[in-house]
Amino acid sequence: MDINGSTQIAGVFGSPIAHTASPALHNAAFAALKMNWAYLPFHVEPQDLRPALAGIRAINFRGVNLTVPHKVLALNMMDEVDMTACKLGAVNTVVVEAGKLHGFNTDGYGFVKALKEDFNLTLKGKRVLILGAGGGGRTIAVQCALEGADKVVVANRTPGRLPDTIALDARSVGRVIGDMDLIVNATSVGLNEGGSLGFPSSLFTSKHAVYDTIYRPAETELMRQAAEAGAKVANGLSMLLHQGAKSFELWTKRKAPLAVMRRALRTAVYGERA
Ligand code: NAP
Repeated sequence: MDINGSTQIAGVFGSPIAHTASPALHNAAFAALKMNWAYLPFHVEPQDLRPALAGIRAINFRGVNLTVPHKVLALNMMDEVDMTACKLGAVNTVVVEAGKLHGFNTDGYGFVKALKEDFNLTLKGKRVLILGAGGGGRTIAVQCALEGADKVVVANRTPGRLPDTIALDARSVGRVIGDMDLIVNATSVGLNEGGSLGFPSSLFTSKHAVYDTIYRPAETELMRQAAEAGAKVANGLSMLLHQGAKSFELWTKRKAPLAVMRRALRTAVYGERA
């Protein structure tokens, strides 16, 4: 990578940030399109988000991604917020244009593209069970509603984190799961192995599609159990890829080189050879 006086800078703010795969994804795309851009990770604590955002405006970054714990906090730090980001209640992509900060959200888009790619599934008319009511679970729930899903049920370990959630236990999940087309794990259970969601694998059937937003490890325990029951399964790498590709297009106004980005991501996350 040749950095010079004309290099355009983008990046990602998060805490923690050390394990982010986004620099690999975006820098591979810039290299493939011979663009004089660079993408860097920044460890930013929540109390420093506002000055960090003022900084990118002052030094003319092209934009940043925001990850945990900044997505909701950033909403009222933007000059303008795109309608989808407003509806999702979170910003994951900031575009700096004419000295203004424009907030977007590409996570919902990434989720929709991932379902199409992995299951050839569209959400319209589908019944969806979402496990987890944190940032990811909420984004997915709202996106399902925006796409015209027939029914969206959110199950969460802690009751009352969102209105109208059900408990994440065998009895409550058992009552609704038979009726579902798609089950999405948006909890952190399964991240870096281990953990159980508190309901038995016998609840899965071959008519389910099960999407785990976790992508490390490549196959979670939930995916293994669902696949054993004959369900279609996929992990969250596709969502990560497509949200990143959309951010890339917002910053650069160029079509994202998806194949290159996918390869770079698989190398960064799974150590696969490029
Ligand atoms: P978050 O806001 O911290 O929410 C975490 C969720 O996990 C909460 O619903 C929490 O329930 C639940 N949870 C944690 N430990 C649990 C346990 N032992 N048993 C049951 N539930 C448990 O995090 P987030 O940002 O939504 O991220 C959640 C997951 O989604 C992460 O694994 C992340 O990697 C993944 N994700 C992936 C993508 C992608 O692009 N592939 C995008 C976004 C998120 P409580 O409310 O009870 O604490």
